[in-house]
Amino acid sequence: MTYANVQVPFVDFSFQHGPIQAELDAALQSVVQRGDFVLGQAVSDFEASFAAACGTGYGVGVGCGTDAIALGLQACGIGPGDEVLIPANTFVATLIGVMRTGATPVLVDCDRATALIDLEAAARAVTPNTRAIVPVHLYGQMVSPRSLLDFAQAHKVLIFEDAAQAHLAEREGYRAGSIGIAAAFSFYPSKNLGAFGDGGMVVTQDASVAQTLRSLRNYGAPRKYYHTDYGTNSRLDTLQAAVLQVKLPHLHSWNQSRNQAAQHYDQLLAPLQDYGIVPMRNDSGPGHVYHLYVLKVDAACSLDRAAIQTGLEQLGILTGIHYPLPCHLQPAFQKLGYHPGDFPSAEALCEQIVSLPMYPGLEFGQIQLVVDSLKALLTANAPAVIPA
Ligand SMILES: *Cc1c(COP(=O)(O)O)cnc(C)c1O
Repeated sequence: MTYANVQVPFVDFSFQHGPIQAELDAALQSVVQRGDFVLGQAVSDFEASFAAACGTGYGVGVGCGTDAIALGLQACGIGPGDEVLIPANTFVATLIGVMRTGATPVLVDCDRATALIDLEAAARAVTPNTRAIVPVHLYGQMVSPRSLLDFAQAHKVLIFEDAAQAHLAEREGYRAGSIGIAAAFSFYPSKNLGAFGDGGMVVTQDASVAQTLRSLRNYGAPRKYYHTDYGTNSRLDTLQAAVLQVKLPHLHSWNQSRNQAAQHYDQLLAPLQDYGIVPMRNDSGPGHVYHLYVLKVDAACSLDRAAIQTGLEQLGILTGIHYPLPCHLQPAFQKLGYHPGDFPSAEALCEQIVSLPMYPGLEFGQIQLVVDSLKALLTANAPAVIPA
């Protein structure tokens, strides 16, 4: 880390791992003792546990969240000639996952208040070739399940959730991962449920999707040395599964800790709306699992976003931007033929958003310090006309 004096880091794992260190060590040791390093007992145990936690019947562990999207969609029958709707303002892995199936990604703008996919815009993007929508439960908030199910029924498309930021999130009585035909999760270390390296999983209610996936992740071989699919090597590592199995029972309380921290941010930040600081709206109450706490620095703000980030950094508070460039403006994807101006809300948000420190165990005193520091920066720069 290049910062001299960090008061509030962006992410801190000590609250999660400290109290369960002995259990984690024992779980790792037991894998080493068994020696079942690839597709070992811990993988099938964790697949069953995580699928049950999501309210689904089957879980298939894969190498990472990106593979969960690519292989998951492929197992659902998505491929060349199909169009798949995705939000323009997601992490680029959603787009990569869709493109790896050979299907055509069709990007859709977002809602400026929540940053979630705009389903009215999605409806306008539907063509006779549209086969699926990949809603991204961005920042830990689910896209409305009822609206998604209505959408899927009206347009005869599959729902494949990108739930990489939304482990155990809830909305309208649904749990993330349980709305559509299947869903992808990532266990990248900083996700709400994080491994000690890469990992991912597809959960589904569909036995045949699960069966196809078990083959696809293992060289396309339903049994050893007999290959029925053009598969790959992408398996959830047994050591990672052992870690995740120890962490899973704590996930709900860690999510609650994130949600409480977010409520404190919301309360303390409310007076700063007049200064152009506007938190993303929570439409799902306690079901929002706040992978990230994101606010907008809008046009009314006396400071630009970069000045706010630098000012906070100088005070020892680390922030991020998720994400600074929308998918359609990434150099690698110019071939998709999109242009600046195609998705005005996604593009506007990319210029305005800042993610504040957020992790389970973030203390109220730290939240107070973040908000007080922000307030000090803004009032030092506020023109007299802005009400105090
Ligand atoms: C992290 C993430 C992914 C990709 O997961 P990896 O495990 O890093 O491959 C996909 N989609 C979203 C929304 C993510 O946040």
